Formats: sequence, structure tokens, C-alpha cells
Amino acid sequence: MSVNISQEAINDVLEAAHMMDRKGLMSTFEGNISVKRDGLLYITPTQTSKGSLTAAMIAVYDESGGQVAGELKASSELSMHTALYRMREGIGAVAHAHPPYLTAHAICHKTFTANCYPEFLALFSEIPVAPYGSPGSRDIYAGIEPLIQDHYVILLANHGALAVGSTAAKACARLEAAEASAAILDLANRVGSPVPLKEAEIARIRSVKQPI
Ligand SMILES: [Zn+2]
Repeated sequence: MSVNISQEAINDVLEAAHMMDRKGLMSTFEGNISVKRDGLLYITPTQTSKGSLTAAMIAVYDESGGQVAGELKASSELSMHTALYRMREGIGAVAHAHPPYLTAHAICHKTFTANCYPEFLALFSEIPVAPYGSPGSRDIYAGIEPLIQDHYVILLANHGALAVGSTAAKACARLEAAEASAAILDLANRVGSPVPLKEAEIARIRSVKQPI
């Protein structure tokens, strides 16, 4: 049976990976981006600099987990990506990375929120922590399922962060914005005491739902 590989899906993964590399948000040994299209999963390969990825390197897997294209294999985090698409309707892409400020919260098992920063509240409301799971194991994503219904970005305890979206560009933009917010809050805490918005304003901003 022939498989219809989408060059457009490959390019979407590739562009997002190059963007994350340029911004210093994803290195050779950590992080991966996937896109799901027409039953196939397209994902960045293991142990390769995201900046030097080419279309031929993007690994493509079918529904049964067999690799149907790509010169290189996916990392062991492939199973986490596969599981995420089943957890919530409308997810078209998953981005996973270990950006420093978000990962620091993940290491401390600390939900990240910023009641003083409307842009953060509008995009994320809060970023919860999924319990720890050994790398490559089922546990790594079992704790994500109850959280993914209400959040687009989730911290993975003692590990890193992940984001979902309808497209790879959107999932990566969410990771980038979340990391920027965590960096700003870190600075704000050094400058003084961040001033929270009024409760009614926090509730108003949080009540506006973002489309996937
Ligand atoms: Zn990871």
C-alpha cells in the first residue's frame, strides 16, 4: 500500500524547527516538533541539530507506529507525541523543549502563572505541571491527559515543557511566549514586587478562551 507523504507537513516541521533553533529554544539533544496530518505523524529526528535539519531527515510514522519515511529515527519521546494527538480533538502539532525558565519551574514542580501580566493571562491563564515520568516511559504522558483539556502549554516535572496547537508554528509560538513570560517574571521579581491586576480583571481576561 502506498503512503501519501505530505511535503507541506514536512516543511511545517522543518520551518518550526529552524525557527526554534534560531531563537535558541531547542538544541541538538533535546526537544522535538511533530505534526499530524491525514493519519501520518511527521517529527524531528533524534540527536540532530534543529538548525541543520533537512526535509529528508524528518521522520514519518503511520498509525501502527511503523516508520514510512525519513533517513533518521525519532527520539524516544515519539510515544509522548503520539499519545497527545489522541488526548484532545483538534491538536495538529506538538512542540516539546527544555527552555531554561520554564524548565526551572518544571524542576521545582511549580505551576507558572503571572497575575500581574495580562498578555500571559490571555494566552495561558496558568501553566500546570504534569507529574514526573521516566524518559521514554508511559508515565511521562499519563499525567498530561487531565491537564491537556484546559491548557495548551504544560510543564513536565523534572524535565521540560510542551505545547500543542493546530499548527507547528502555533505550538512553537506558544512555547516561545510562555518562556518569555517566565523570563520577564524572573526579572520582575528581582526588580521589586510584581503588582497583580485586580481580581475582576484577572477573571475577565482568563474567561476569554483561545482557539486551538
Ligand atoms: Zn525532553
